Amino acid sequence: MDYDIVVVGAGPAGSVAAYECAKRGFKTLLLEKAILPREKACGGAVMYRGIRILNGIVPHELIEQKIYGLRFGFHNGTSSEFISHKLIGITVFRDKFDDFLSTRAVEAGAELAEDTRVIHTSVSDECATIQLQDGREIKSDFLIGADGVNSIVSRSLNLRPKRKDLTRIGLGMEADFYVGRAGVMKATKGNPSVLEILPVKNRISYGWIFPKREHLAIGIAGSGEHMRALRPDFDGFYQSLEKRLGVKLKLEKRRTCFLGGEGIAGTNVTNRAILVGDAAGFVDPMMGEGIAYAMQSSKIAVDVIDQAIAENQYDADSLWKYHHLCRKEFLANFQMASWMGSRGISFASNLLPRMSGHKLASDIMAMVARGEIGYADIPYIILKKIPRQIPSFIKHVLQSYIQTRN
Ligand SMILES: Cc1cc2nc3c(=O)[nH]c(=O)nc-3n(C[C@H](O)[C@H](O)[C@H](O)COP(=O)(O)OP(=O)(O)OC[C@H]3O[C@@H](n4cnc5c(N)ncnc54)[C@H](O)[C@@H]3O)c2cc1C
Repeated sequence: MDYDIVVVGAGPAGSVAAYECAKRGFKTLLLEKAILPREKACGGAVMYRGIRILNGIVPHELIEQKIYGLRFGFHNGTSSEFISHKLIGITVFRDKFDDFLSTRAVEAGAELAEDTRVIHTSVSDECATIQLQDGREIKSDFLIGADGVNSIVSRSLNLRPKRKDLTRIGLGMEADFYVGRAGVMKATKGNPSVLEILPVKNRISYGWIFPKREHLAIGIAGSGEHMRALRPDFDGFYQSLEKRLGVKLKLEKRRTCFLGGEGIAGTNVTNRAILVGDAAGFVDPMMGEGIAYAMQSSKIAVDVIDQAIAENQYDADSLWKYHHLCRKEFLANFQMASWMGSRGISFASNLLPRMSGHKLASDIMAMVARGEIGYADIPYIILKKIPRQIPSFIKHVLQSYIQTRN
């Protein structure tokens, strides 16, 4: 056998998987088709839930902004803001962040092969076989498919649908706009620690402004069927922001990518192989957030493989535990996000202003972003954990309801 474990794809999912494998002493190969550092279409907001997987350790120079709050804008020009005193995430440039993660895997003992494209994978009772574009063939005990939303591992193992169904998968376009430090401060009215989510004109989709040190990451995303005019919609969106933000937005490069989806519904394991991150479709179906889920799913996958190796069990039945653990960890979040997403922007614009600015709402937002609770725990937290705040919360909601009625 060439390796204990081969990981395909050196994004956050693959590099965390390779790190976890190498740390446990497995002979690990990390394969990446691009030359690193590579670009990735992404807003670059990493929720604290993901940073926990890194034991909270991200080099200072990679942190563009520390994030303490979220602001949701609505079509009528109003917005709702949730600010926490706790760190809820950071913004990064993906090329640098992902490079840090792959270097971390190598330092833990993984072997990294860049510029190495996988073109086919298969599994048998004896091993997993990985075919490379350069004609080489590699054999391993286990295979981890971390090769993103168009995963060749997933397709060649018949785990997920071959064709993209645009009604089920999302699509996004984004760009980093250089505005300088002063420009970031001006555009964020002096508070660059807030992620802003905005509606896109005439579309069932959303846009964002994520502040970095000297850049603003601006993008739009939505379900594929609503995003057919992606480029004009994106251009219209960022141009419409110039006046509001008071800064000149000079476009350098647009980046676009599909967003993964329906992860829990699909099959993510077979004999000797597991899919993680976007390859498994682990993306919040409402916001398209996927970095934290990518890292979390990889950690779970390696725990399960570790146990399978200890028990000398290489079959799908043993790995199925991964599916159950991911379901337990992510299902409620994805279901709740999908439900809220399906209700559309009008639902959010009715609900969020009633909670805006209230401490309980901000605390809950922070707990979810930090991975301390899932969406499904919200009613429990409201009812049991913070009962002292309930009267003031109800008063706040009623007051805002009465104000909007008048
Ligand atoms: C426009 C947009 C904005 C987004 N913004 C955010 C955000 O702000 N915050 C957030 O949390 N999420 C965001 N996401 C989602 C996030 O980018 C993904 O969920 C995340 O990158 C998933 O990580 P991953 O490691 O699973 O996959 P990826 O990051 O896609 O990494 C997969 C890796 O596999 C490699 N690969 C692919 N095929 C092969 C092959 N055949 N052989 C070898 N290597 C291969 C690729 O080159 C790549 O390096 C956004 C997505 C889009 C499209």
